[in-house]
Amino acid sequence: MRVLLVEDEPDAARMLAKGLRRYAYAVDVAANGEEASYQASVNDYDLLILDVMLPLKDGFSICRELRAAGSAVPVLMLTARDAVEDRIAGLNTGADDYLVKPFDFQELLARVRALLRRGPALRPENFQLADLRLETQSRTVFRGTARIALTNKEYALLEYLARRAGTVVTRGEIAEHVWDETFDPFSNTIEVYVQRLRRKLDEGREPKLIHTRRGMGYVLAVESE
Ligand code: CA
Repeated sequence: MRVLLVEDEPDAARMLAKGLRRYAYAVDVAANGEEASYQASVNDYDLLILDVMLPLKDGFSICRELRAAGSAVPVLMLTARDAVEDRIAGLNTGADDYLVKPFDFQELLARVRALLRRGPALRPENFQLADLRLETQSRTVFRGTARIALTNKEYALLEYLARRAGTVVTRGEIAEHVWDETFDPFSNTIEVYVQRLRRKLDEGREPKLIHTRRGMGYVLAVESE
């Protein structure tokens, strides 16, 4: 899941981005309103975390413009303490939820998860395909009774494939939703990660779950090849 974090305060931005990445989110950071609008227009984000007070363009304007352009991306707004008018204004501009500063990181994480569940997220929280099971809250993965240890990135890739299970997911879509803006489209990073995931998930097990569609992408499914 790829998140655009818009926060002009460098320490706060760094801390939040680091925290979110630890939970396997791909995070891009924008430090002003113009940059945020641009990023949101060129990338397909799963969620925006939007500070209200920003240089060049405030969070309300960014949100209003996005909605006017037809974007339905979930927006979590970060408002200043006690600014009741801010919260009301935020919701009026089309934000989905708001959080009052200062907040606890775990609270932010809970809101982020709740907002992502409204989208094309895993519903219910646990995903099952054959003997593969993903528990999204704890980010644990099993095949049968065997727990599969995955890195954050491997888990993020698997969860993205699971959200789209049964449909072919292109490399471009994976790059867009699992990696952040530092992703090099000319690298073979995705192939490498898919191979790793396949080794951990499918090697020595049946049925095989990760399939390559040559020239198209990958699909998570039970099928005979
Ligand atoms: Ca600010």
